[in-house]
Amino acid sequence: MFDVLVIGGGNAALCAALTAREAGASVLMLEAAPREWRGGNSAHTRNLRCMHDGPQDVLVDSYPEEEFWQDLLRVTQGQTNEALARLVIRTSSTCRDWMRRHGVHFQPPLSGALHVARTNAFFMGGGKALVNAYYRSAEKLGVEIRYNTPVESLELKDGRFIAAHTAEARITARSCVLACGGFESNRDWLREAWGQNAAGEWPADNFLIRGTRFNQGVLLKFMMDAGADIIGEPSQSHCVAIDARAPRYDGGICTRVDCVSLGIVVNRDAERFYDEGEDFWPKRYAIWGRLVAQQPGQIGFSIIDAKAPGHFMPPVFPGAQSQTLAGLAQQLGLDASRFEQTVNDYNRACRTGNFNHAILDDCHTEGLSPVKSHWARPIDTPPFYGYALRPGITFTYLGLKVNERAAVHFNGQPSDNLFVAGEMMAGNVLGKGYTAGVGMSIGTTFGCIAGREAAQAAGKSEVNHAAA
Ligand SMILES: Cc1cc2nc3c(=O)[nH]c(=O)nc-3n(C[C@H](O)[C@H](O)[C@H](O)COP(=O)(O)OP(=O)(O)OC[C@H]3O[C@@H](n4cnc5c(N)ncnc54)[C@H](O)[C@@H]3O)c2cc1C
Repeated sequence: MFDVLVIGGGNAALCAALTAREAGASVLMLEAAPREWRGGNSAHTRNLRCMHDGPQDVLVDSYPEEEFWQDLLRVTQGQTNEALARLVIRTSSTCRDWMRRHGVHFQPPLSGALHVARTNAFFMGGGKALVNAYYRSAEKLGVEIRYNTPVESLELKDGRFIAAHTAEARITARSCVLACGGFESNRDWLREAWGQNAAGEWPADNFLIRGTRFNQGVLLKFMMDAGADIIGEPSQSHCVAIDARAPRYDGGICTRVDCVSLGIVVNRDAERFYDEGEDFWPKRYAIWGRLVAQQPGQIGFSIIDAKAPGHFMPPVFPGAQSQTLAGLAQQLGLDASRFEQTVNDYNRACRTGNFNHAILDDCHTEGLSPVKSHWARPIDTPPFYGYALRPGITFTYLGLKVNERAAVHFNGQPSDNLFVAGEMMAGNVLGKGYTAGVGMSIGTTFGCIAGREAAQAAGKSEVNHAAA
């Protein structure tokens, strides 16, 4: 029998497996995906958010605990557990040394990287390289890894883990870490969570999944049915507006459209529906998926003119392009006269001051609803560009309730030997909203805690090099 069973194959699972192994436990990791698709959503990531009191290797300036906490408080509108959030924040300042020991390299942020040089440490080679480094380290340390092995159910007794069931086997272990993501890849569950709108549409039918297809939420559902304590709302998720031409799964980061704050966004009726310049794009990009999901047909169109290129990271697919607004409307399938009317109204309302995309500048609209608060410049310089947008789900927030030991709870009681990490519990810290890079901070912190606790529950705690 293995000491620790880790279910999942992304960042949280790997952090748990490595930490448990470092503590002397024998570890088996079960990954639903085949080897070539291993790593879940973590393989798509680029960075993690880190607290630091002064310049630290790849991080410039400082990002103190209180500022990180206030950022989290603001984006979640209070739907966060302060003790758990502060645990993540503090761990984020020390975990990089541990990550390096397992082969992760960091790089200075590239220009155009969402202005996050101060707050976020970027992985050299992205999340794919991070995941590969962790797998290499896990193999070297003797973690046994089985691919193509989705766990279908668990055997529990009085809140304790007994065994996991796959299609072929019953696997027992002294303790277990659940780290198998949210339910974002499960289209039926998304459909149920988002329901039907007043127009009779099922908005989730038009969602694109930005990451893995393997996070079906099978064990999340199982645990809910088994009476585990739950946190979060099924319809809350990290949801970004992405290029409507992105694939249904695994489009990743390059399908994001980052020019929203430089122009306007209209819906299928060629009407604006939200303040595109409300705040810096890194603080706002994660609300636009939901905004587009609330529009008819769940589609939006990001419109810019020739002044915008150079101020944002270009998407992987070129946008529609025309010398005239009417020509652009035609390409995007919008009513040309209504579109021209919307752009002209916006142009007339622009009060252009000193345009500066790096600050909350004084370019804004007056007498227009919705207002554009910053970076408002007339769309008057051809060529004009347009990108069709769809809601892109990154990950869902519904999860299992934990304490500072990452223990799964039943009726308020922590389990002795069942722990959870990553997206499956991120909702404890992130009930709503998002701030870039915090997903990996949560997964790394709780992955390491869960691994340490699982090893301890199995009677192992020899060495503890863990990040947390
Ligand atoms: C395009 C994209 C970009 C992102 N960029 C960033 C970023 O730069 N910074 C950041 O902090 N966050 C980012 N995120 C969010 C980040 O990916 C997640 O917060 C984080 O990876 C969660 O890690 P995890 O280990 O919990 O889940 P995952 O990495 O998704 O791992 C879940 C694993 O569980 C496996 N699994 C699922 N069900 C089962 C089962 N029944 N049995 C066995 N295995 C199972 C899956 O195959 C997968 O390997 C991004 C997400 C996406 C999609």
